Amino acid sequence: MLVIMQAHATEEQVGAVCRKIEELGFRAHPMPGPTRTAIGITGNTVPVDPAALEGLAGVAECIAVSKPYKLVARELKEDNTVVDLGDGVRVGGTELAIIAGPCAVESREQAFAIAAKVKAAGATLFRGGAYKPRSSPYSFQGLGEEGLKILAEVRAEFGLKIVTEAVDSESLELVEHYADVIQIGARNMQNFSLLKRAGRAAKPVLLKRGLSATLDEFLMAAEYILAEGNYNVILCERGIRTFADHTRNTLDLSVIPAVKRLSHLPIIVDPSHGTGRREKVIPLSRAAVAVGADGLLVEVHHQPEQALSDGYQSLLPDQFQQLMEEISQIGAVLRRSVARAAGTPQSLRAV
Ligand code: PEP
Ligand code: MN
Repeated sequence: MLVIMQAHATEEQVGAVCRKIEELGFRAHPMPGPTRTAIGITGNTVPVDPAALEGLAGVAECIAVSKPYKLVARELKEDNTVVDLGDGVRVGGTELAIIAGPCAVESREQAFAIAAKVKAAGATLFRGGAYKPRSSPYSFQGLGEEGLKILAEVRAEFGLKIVTEAVDSESLELVEHYADVIQIGARNMQNFSLLKRAGRAAKPVLLKRGLSATLDEFLMAAEYILAEGNYNVILCERGIRTFADHTRNTLDLSVIPAVKRLSHLPIIVDPSHGTGRREKVIPLSRAAVAVGADGLLVEVHHQPEQALSDGYQSLLPDQFQQLMEEISQIGAVLRRSVARAAGTPQSLRAV
C-alpha cells in the first residue's frame, strides 16, 4: 500500500505516519517529491488495513498497489529519480550519463590509456570489470582487488566516477569500498541474496537486465534493492536472448519507454553487450538516446585485438569520440546534454 500525504503535510506528520507503520510491524519508505510525499509500505504479507492510517494528520489517501512491486513504481513517486554521484555527475537528470571503458581492467597501463581517451571525449564515468562473470571457467576472470585499486587510481587521476561489477557478497564488500557505483550483472539479476546485500550498500547500484528477464522481473529485481533501503538504483538494458543470430543479443529499446511509464528509476542502455559487434554499437547508441535512455554504457579499448575479453564489441577511442559527437546532436533534440569534454588530468595540472 502507498500512503499519499497532503501537499502541505509537515515533516512531523510524515514522521508520525512512518512511526505508525513501524508500530504495525512494517517498514516505511518515505519518498519526498516536489508536490507531495508518498510513503511506501513493505514487510506486510497480507494487505495493510488503510483504516489504521487514513485518519492520521496530513494523510490524503491510501492506495492499494496492484503490481508486485511498489517502491520502484511511478505511483509512489511521480518525478524521475536522479542518482547523484557527486561532483556534478548525475544519472537520470537532463544530462546524459556516459559510462565508458574496457570490458575488464587488464593492467594499470591499459586502464589509464583508455581512461585518458574516454575522458577527453566527454565521458564522466569509467567502467571496467575486476570480477568477470565468464561463460568459460578458463577465460580471464578479472584482476580482483588489484583491479579495484587500479580503478581507484583512475578516479584519482582523471576525476571519473567508477562503475564496476560485484559477482557475490564478498566482491560486493570490496566494490562498495572502492567504486562509486556497484554493477550487478545480467547473470545475477535474480540472485536475490546479492540484490538484498546491494540494497544494504552505501553506494548506488547499476542493475543490468537478465538475459531472459521480462519487464516485471526486471522491476522486481530492482524492488529487492529498494526494499532494503537503497533507493539509488540505475537500470540498464543490455540485450536479451532471442532467436536472432545476426547479433549477440537483441537490444530491446522498446523497454525504455515502457520502464519510463511504470517506474521513476533512471534507465541507461548498453549497446556493447546488446549487439556484441563493434559496427553496431554507434547506430544503436544513437537509437538509445533517441528513444529516451538516460545514458549509455559503452565498452572502449585502445587495442581491442589484444583485449582479454569482449574486444570485438569494444569501440576504438576515435569511434567513441564520434559516438559522443553524434549523440550530443541527437540529445539536443530532446533537450538533453552530454558532459563537456575533459580538462587536464591530475598529474599534468600545475600544482
Ligand atoms: C559487463 O558489463 O561487463 C557485463 C558482463 O555485462 P552483462 O552482465 O550485461 O553481460
Ligand atoms: Mn564485456
